Amino acid sequence: MTVFLPPPDFLDSPRGRDLLRPARSRAPGRTDTLPDRASVAVVGGGLAAIALAGTLWHAGVTDVVIVDRQGRLGGRFLARADLLGQRVLRSPYDHHPGVEGYRDCELLDFARLHWDALTDVERRQVRMAQAGHRSVVPLDVFEAYCDHVVTAHGLARRTWRAEVRHVSPGPDEVLVETSLGDIIADTAVLCTGEEPVEAPPTWWPEQDRPSGVHYWYEPVTDTAGTTIVVGAGLSAAHLVANALAGGGRVRWILRAAAEHYQCADVNASFFRAEGRARFHGTSWQDRLDLMRQQRRASVMFEFRPGFTTAEAQGRLTVHRGVDVVRVRALPAGDTAVELADGTTVTGDRAVLALGTRAMTGEGLLPAEVVAVRDGWPDLDETTLAYSAAPRVHALGAAACMVLGPAARNIDGHRVGASRVVTSILAHLAAPAAAGSSFDAVEHAHA
Ligand SMILES: Cc1cc2nc3c(=O)[nH]c(=O)nc-3n(C[C@H](O)[C@H](O)[C@H](O)COP(=O)(O)OP(=O)(O)OC[C@H]3O[C@@H](n4cnc5c(N)ncnc54)[C@H](O)[C@@H]3O)c2cc1C
Repeated sequence: MTVFLPPPDFLDSPRGRDLLRPARSRAPGRTDTLPDRASVAVVGGGLAAIALAGTLWHAGVTDVVIVDRQGRLGGRFLARADLLGQRVLRSPYDHHPGVEGYRDCELLDFARLHWDALTDVERRQVRMAQAGHRSVVPLDVFEAYCDHVVTAHGLARRTWRAEVRHVSPGPDEVLVETSLGDIIADTAVLCTGEEPVEAPPTWWPEQDRPSGVHYWYEPVTDTAGTTIVVGAGLSAAHLVANALAGGGRVRWILRAAAEHYQCADVNASFFRAEGRARFHGTSWQDRLDLMRQQRRASVMFEFRPGFTTAEAQGRLTVHRGVDVVRVRALPAGDTAVELADGTTVTGDRAVLALGTRAMTGEGLLPAEVVAVRDGWPDLDETTLAYSAAPRVHALGAAACMVLGPAARNIDGHRVGASRVVTSILAHLAAPAAAGSSFDAVEHAHA
C-alpha cells in the first residue's frame, strides 16, 4: 500500500496579501445604540454567525442584529489562527461559511479567482481540491472569502460591538441585554463558540499562575532556550513548530500515549449525513462515548516529518502518556513542570494548549433553560432550539450532541444554520401575539 504523507510546505502560506476584500467588511462593528427590536438577535459574530446570517439573508430575513465582543465578523477565529502562526486551514475547500444550497460563489471558485496571487503550492492544492482530493486552504484566501460573504449579504452593517450579558426567553419574544442596550427579538441564536480550557487549580495551588506560564491564546514571542509545550492538539503542534523554527528546543508533554496525526479535526464521516445519522436516534450514553472517541486531540499529518527530524536531532523531546501534576516557577526565572511519573521538566517558559470547551449558554440563559447534562445543553434534535425555550437556538460547538462532533467545525455551522433558519422562519410566520411579553422590562429600561 502506498502511504501519502503531505509534506510540511503545505502548512506554509503567505499572509496579508492584497486579495479582493472590500474594506467595509472588516469594519470593527457598530457602537451606536442597538435597535430596540429585531426579527433575529445573534449572540456572537464568529464563523457560525456568518453562515447563519447569510442563510437568513437568502431566506429573506434581513432584520438581523449580530452582537459580538470583538465586533469584526469572524475576527476571533482569524486572531487565534494568526497568534499561533497557522497559515492554512485544517478543513478542506468545501468547508466554508457561504450558504448551503444557494449558487453563491464557493470558496474554491473564490481561490481560482485569485490564481495570480497564489503560490505554486497553493495552486497545486486548488487542483487537488478540483479533483476531489483532500487539500489545504490558505488562511489569506479564507479570510478574503469570509469578507466576501459578509459584504455580499450586508452583514457588517448589522453587526454591533458589544457584550451580551443576558438572554431571557419569553413565550413570544426574547430579551437580549447587551452593553450597548437591549433588544427584543422574535428569536435569538447563540453562536458563542468555544473558550479555552484552563489548567486545573491543582497545578499551582494557593498561588497565582507562575510567571513563566502562558496559554496558547496569549502572545509568546520569545523562543530562545527551551519551551515546554503541554497539549496534544493543533494549537500545541503550532507552538512546538514555532519554537523549533525560532531555533529553540522543545519539551512536549502529551497525556496521550502517542501523537495522533489526522487530516481533519474529526473523522471525515462526521462531516457527512451518515456521520450525523450515527448520532440521530442513539442513546445519550452512545453519543457521549462517540464524542469521547472523536474529540480527542490530533495534529495535521504535515507536522510529522519536522517533528520526527527534530526528535532525532535531540531538539525535541516528547514526554508521552504522562499527566502534569504541578507547575512552578524556579528561582532563576525558569519554569518547572512536574509529571505524574516523577519526572520534572524544566524550561525557560511553559505554554499550555489544553483544548477548548463549548459555550452552552450557561451564564447567559437561565440555568433551567440550558439544562446542562454532562456539559451539554438540552437542545431540540431537529431545530437546535433549547428544549425549554423554542425561540432560542444554539449553533456551533454547543450543538455537538445533536449534530455530532463536526458541529464545532465550519462545515457543521452550515448544516446547523439551515436547521436553525427553518425553525426561525416557522416562528416568524406564526401570528404575532398582541403586546410584548417584555413590556414591563421595556418600561423598566426606558
Ligand atoms: C486555532 C484554531 C484553528 C481552527 N481551525 C479550524 C479549521 O481549519 N477548520 C474548522 O472547521 N474549524 C477550525 N477551528 C474550529 C473553529 O474555532 C470553528 O470552526 C469556528 O471558529 C467556530 O466558529 P464559531 O462562530 O462557533 O465561534 P467563534 O469563531 O469563536 O466566534 C464566537 C464569537 O462569539 C463571541 N461571543 C461569545 N460570547 C459572547 C457574548 N456574551 N457577547 C458577545 N460576543 C460573544 C466571541 O467573542 C466570538 O467572537 C479552529 C479553531 C482554532 C482555535
